[in-house]
Amino acid sequence: MKTLTSYLAGRWHAGDRDFQTLVDPSTEETLARASSAGADFAGALAWARSTGGPALAGLTFGQRGEILKAAAKRLREHRDELLALSAANNGATAGDGAFDVDGAGGTLAFYGGLGLSLGDRRHLVDGDGLQLGKSEAFWSRHALVPRPGVALHVNAFNFPAWGFAEKFACAFLAGMPVITKPATATALTAHRMVEILLADGLLPEGALQLVVGSTGDLVDRLGAQDVFAFTGSAATARSLRGRAALIAAAVRVNVEADSLNAAVLGPDAAPGTPLFDLFVRDVAREMTQKAGQKCTAVRRIVVPREHEGALIEALAARLARVVTGNPADPSVTMGPLATAAQLDDALDGIAELLATCDLAAGSGARVDGVGAAAGRGFFVAPTLLRCEAPLELTPVHEREVFGPVATVLASSGTAAEAARLVALGGGTLVTSVYSDDAEWRADFFAGAGCWTGRIYVGSTGAEGFGSGAALPGSLHGGPGRAGGGEELGGLRGLAPYLQRVALQGHRDVVDPLAGA
Ligand code: NAP
Repeated sequence: MKTLTSYLAGRWHAGDRDFQTLVDPSTEETLARASSAGADFAGALAWARSTGGPALAGLTFGQRGEILKAAAKRLREHRDELLALSAANNGATAGDGAFDVDGAGGTLAFYGGLGLSLGDRRHLVDGDGLQLGKSEAFWSRHALVPRPGVALHVNAFNFPAWGFAEKFACAFLAGMPVITKPATATALTAHRMVEILLADGLLPEGALQLVVGSTGDLVDRLGAQDVFAFTGSAATARSLRGRAALIAAAVRVNVEADSLNAAVLGPDAAPGTPLFDLFVRDVAREMTQKAGQKCTAVRRIVVPREHEGALIEALAARLARVVTGNPADPSVTMGPLATAAQLDDALDGIAELLATCDLAAGSGARVDGVGAAAGRGFFVAPTLLRCEAPLELTPVHEREVFGPVATVLASSGTAAEAARLVALGGGTLVTSVYSDDAEWRADFFAGAGCWTGRIYVGSTGAEGFGSGAALPGSLHGGPGRAGGGEELGGLRGLAPYLQRVALQGHRDVVDPLAGA
């Protein structure tokens, strides 16, 4: 059996005990095992600080951008191999695998381009200058300067490729060495990506290390110039961000957690309109892409009561066309959940929601998959629930079911009530809203804007990838329950890895120092 190793302090380290097995979620066959037992995490941090940090600091933004561009190209050259690993270990269909793997390459390329556009700069200017005194003899500017620390990245199981790349691209471009840890259960793709990127000296020595398995005492060893960026469930985030060592050293912590994203239909987008049809198409895709295992998937569907029946009918018809099964079968359009634990959790979640909701479409149960042996594989067919009284106490605003499951919430149709329902989720990564009524949209934005990290607006004539795609040029992250973190958003994504410093003095001195 293949044993996945960690890459630490310039060597591949194989654990010798406490192995976790990685399986194919369609067949339940064992694919590999992994453990980081015995790893020297103090040595890994020291190597990043003493070797990786100085190597990166010796490069300009432009040079780091060139490397990121080359990294993206290299991943493209290995695309088929990475898609095969994603299918085997994540149960991803070709489309779902491409969403992850191509998303990874695209993000590296985007930040490569940003780096090239920054050229030979070594720090960034932040905003405009400001006169502080009676004349420019007392002037201020802000700059963002490199930090001599290490970025520890802990990622979730659902995006092994993109999750690695979106964090790595920002830290690397900012000049900070990275130690990355994929979720163990689906680590095959990220492990291979790191192998590919480490080959032939593409990256400066010490710029990238990999932990497969437990992080041991790594989190508690982080210091004042380090960054801890976490993606995963709200529960794990809570336990990690409160660690005494992180608080004591004031380590920068960025959390991307789970989210009860909402898709909102405006009253004007009535059945029969192209906007209604677009809403149905987008919601069905956002429920079923990656079998609903996206942090940005639609979990709550807010619809004016008068359109509820038509919407459920149209969505149910669309979801009925989804073929759930082993992605090795060409007819399959949706794969399994990634692990047995995820299947159990999703079924528990559906049962919890059914306490206050009705089943509107699908069975809400495990099913046998097309192209998979009976009783094997972690399959759940698309399931639509309906909540009659969503403004009352209901787990629909609290329980994330990480699968192809969403709940229709009937509302009065006012923008204020739609925004209130969004807010009941406690903070989301993304909210989508479909309306051609400018006044209604503005009212909704006024109420819901502060409860979400991103608003995707569907309107007649607009073109986009839907609400589920976290694109490198737009902010990813959300308030409250979504973790309160911020990633991507172009240069904004570098901010956690740089130190903002205010410069004050004569303008003739301050501006050149800041590089303005
Ligand atoms: P998880 O169970 O919270 O695990 C996330 C990561 O944390 C894994 O790499 C896990 O490693 C690691 N971890 C767990 N305990 C740890 C500890 N004590 N110290 C250090 N690392 C620890 O989440 P998941 O099941 O992988 O992912 C699904 C969740 O992630 C969903 O709730 C989803 O909404 C959320 N998510 C959010 C985003 C976003 O951008 N906001 C993106 C994707 C997913 P092991 O695998 O080794 O246990």
